[in-house]
Amino acid sequence: MTTSKRDYYDVLGVARDATPEDFKKAFRKQALKFHPDRNKEADASDRFKEVNEAYQVLSDPQRKAQYDQFGHAGFNGQSGRGFEGFEGFGGFGDIFDSFFGGSTRQASSRGADLEFQINISFRDAAFGVPRELELNRMERCGRCDGNRAEPGTDVVECSTCHGEGKVRRTQRTFFGQFQQVTACPTCQGEGQTVKTACKQCSGHGTERNSRKIEVKIPAGVEHGTKLIVHGEGESGGAGNRNGDLYVHIGVERDKVFSRRGNDVLMTAEVNMVMAALGGIINVETLDGSTDIEIKPGTQSGATIRIKEAGIPHMGSSNRRGDQLVELNVVTPRKLDDRQKELLHDLAESFGLERISENSGSGHGLFGRFKDVLRGDDDQS
Ligand SMILES: [Zn+2]
Ligand SMILES: [Zn+2]
Repeated sequence: MTTSKRDYYDVLGVARDATPEDFKKAFRKQALKFHPDRNKEADASDRFKEVNEAYQVLSDPQRKAQYDQFGHAGFNGQSGRGFEGFEGFGGFGDIFDSFFGGSTRQASSRGADLEFQINISFRDAAFGVPRELELNRMERCGRCDGNRAEPGTDVVECSTCHGEGKVRRTQRTFFGQFQQVTACPTCQGEGQTVKTACKQCSGHGTERNSRKIEVKIPAGVEHGTKLIVHGEGESGGAGNRNGDLYVHIGVERDKVFSRRGNDVLMTAEVNMVMAALGGIINVETLDGSTDIEIKPGTQSGATIRIKEAGIPHMGSSNRRGDQLVELNVVTPRKLDDRQKELLHDLAESFGLERISENSGSGHGLFGRFKDVLRGDDDQS
């Protein structure tokens, strides 16, 4: 992932206008070719990942369109450390379970998966954030590098099976000769034995370590999302694939914003006079703040849409939702003498006939007006 990336179409060996069926066929062919259980070349696992990544993008119409337009740059912020899949999106394992009849996960003694829960703020979820996780996991032993022998001592070919890992036993029976092949009991099928076991791991090849790793939480992530970081689970010992790391994301509530899809929602207060006359208010946004125009005659509950100020679509940092500002028209609770006088005049101009100058009876500074109370006598 650090070197320059190959074109996804080249990786799968398909034309840009190939059909989804062609993509699937090409993927299957390449995946079978580089699957680490079949292909023992050193770079097979990297090639396999590359094929998987290319297919995940090209088989998803939205991501494909984005790739066609922006190339690998379209996935910035997403192609960071090791995210090769999202749950429910066709992760590594899912695809192969369907192609290989579910046999891949159990095929080798693979390291255990790890689960990790982290909580992030609403705003970090919107824009993505790097997070350091502290894992306590089985890793390849640092002293023997997983080969189980004390450094300086030899790992030798197993004398029982001569490095084959298998033994054949020939049985003569009444019906004839039978040959049975079993895992070598001396080396447990490894083909090699250790003269002096590594002191640090007692010859297991693995040890438990506390390890800090940084993961990049992608922009637009939702509460409850499960991210998969391949190969960051526990070591399965020398020659075996590591388990995966599952990161469960919890998103905290925000004081100002809530989320609906990729839109952010908020409410803003507008003074009733401004609601009547129109004006400008400043509202908070995920990026800072912005002025919005209040049109004359605005009613409480009206909504103003600020385009592209919402949450980025996951996997597409240049597409964002909108911000919806619901306006709440507020009536002033305190008025000074001049403001009262102005409103009284205003009331008269609307024909709201005055009942009393100063009610002072807890019914509000405005006093009571006949047409407000018409047919409403039980209110006190
Ligand atoms: Zn060791
Ligand atoms: Zn053996």
